[in-house]
Amino acid sequence: MARGERGVTPQSEDFSSWYNETVTRAQLVERGPAKGTMVIRPYGYRIWELLQAELDRRIKDTGHENAYFPLFIPESYLKREAEHVEGFAPELAVVTHAGGKELEEPLIVRPTSETIVGEMMAKWISSYRDLPLLLNQWANVVRWELRPRLFLRTTEFLWQEGHTAHADAADALRETLQMLEVYTEIARDIAAIPVVPGEKTPGERFAGAVQTFSIEGMMRDGKALQAGTSHYLGTNFAKAFGIQYLNRAGTQELCHTTSWGMATRMIGAAVMAHGDDKGLVLPPRIAPYQVVIVPIARGEAAEEVDTAARELAGRLKAAGIRVHVDDRPQVSPGFKFNDWELRGAPLRLEIGPRDLAAGTALLARRLDAQGEGGKVAIALDTAPQTLAAALEEFQAFLLRRATDFRESRTAAVEAWPEFAQQVTVGWASALHCGRPECEDEIKAETAATPRCIPNAAPVESGICVRCGAPSAYGKRVLFARAY
Ligand code: AMP
Repeated sequence: MARGERGVTPQSEDFSSWYNETVTRAQLVERGPAKGTMVIRPYGYRIWELLQAELDRRIKDTGHENAYFPLFIPESYLKREAEHVEGFAPELAVVTHAGGKELEEPLIVRPTSETIVGEMMAKWISSYRDLPLLLNQWANVVRWELRPRLFLRTTEFLWQEGHTAHADAADALRETLQMLEVYTEIARDIAAIPVVPGEKTPGERFAGAVQTFSIEGMMRDGKALQAGTSHYLGTNFAKAFGIQYLNRAGTQELCHTTSWGMATRMIGAAVMAHGDDKGLVLPPRIAPYQVVIVPIARGEAAEEVDTAARELAGRLKAAGIRVHVDDRPQVSPGFKFNDWELRGAPLRLEIGPRDLAAGTALLARRLDAQGEGGKVAIALDTAPQTLAAALEEFQAFLLRRATDFRESRTAAVEAWPEFAQQVTVGWASALHCGRPECEDEIKAETAATPRCIPNAAPVESGICVRCGAPSAYGKRVLFARAY
């Protein structure tokens, strides 16, 4: 598409500008006054609510309960787990003054809540009967990000953080992987992003974790985005906060804990995994409006058409479809079509006097296999069933399209030149020695980092793609440039 007055920068020209223009012009989000902050507008917040509802249901279905912990954490708490504080120190916002006075002990604005949850778990757990303790909180957190990007990396973001305590390593690891699976499902079945679940290499682990797992999604520019993480924390936090229990034999043991989080970054992931040069393409399950009806009539016919549009909207709503009638009188139908393409509405229905007389409406999909949505006439009588099916189909189409794209841009590579080339277009699956210095060299030369060691990768070993040393992990590692 040529960049008209209303168009956004094409993805191929500058993906980053495309992204920023799209999320703001589609009215999802805007920059806040303090650096790195964001204002989530109603259209963007609705996407978050839809994701949140799906995730919250699964969190509860797997036995967790929601709670709420404070925003402020005494500085001394963070210091108790050495690796944790070291990892987070550069990103902390610290409150030193309050109520007009200097505080005796500075307060940290939570970057994550392992420490405060750990402190409370230590109080609440005394015997094996109290385990497992399965908690979650929906909250905002603050991390002073140096290179902020709307949704993807903001200094304040919304998320859920799960925190659980278990009697042994096996149960805690089972939990860690179970929640990784829940995230995989949310990404795949709700946001239509075919993510790869896997384990992070040691250099990419969460500060204080024994093992970190993530889901990685491919964006339309071939880069990766970490869309959720699940950590097995071993007994690190249990030791630091005294989370212990009396086992059946009557002796004290340390708990094994986990934590896992998914954030408003997911909105950015959906934007970058499906969007095109016309703007957003929203999967129906997270679209604030799944169907937008545009009445097209002037003069005398207008009232009749508007009434029919509202009546149709009522029937669609009753069938559980999120529908919006765009009856703005001050803008033309053409303007509305472009606007809803920019804002990613999956389906658009046009109704004019002639359609009405024929008992039909014109249906346009935001995207089809050819990329351009053609229009088809559908019967008004059976519109709820037709549209419900079309939405299901569109959801499946987006997942298929994203899966095909990911597969076409992922390659197993054996030699260094091939690796360097592959990460300019997509993901490289390669054997690696596992040495952090070697990871650093790869990053310096190609900007690619190890994204994860996919859980589903077959057992394989050989030599490192970069340095020729024996490979680690017994599997291939996925490397990519990432957000
Ligand atoms: P972590 O606690 O670092 O494992 O992060 C948990 C989740 O939050 C992951 O899905 C991250 O991708 C996401 N996340 C981390 N930092 C940010 C940020 N600054 N803005 C948005 N999402 C983030």
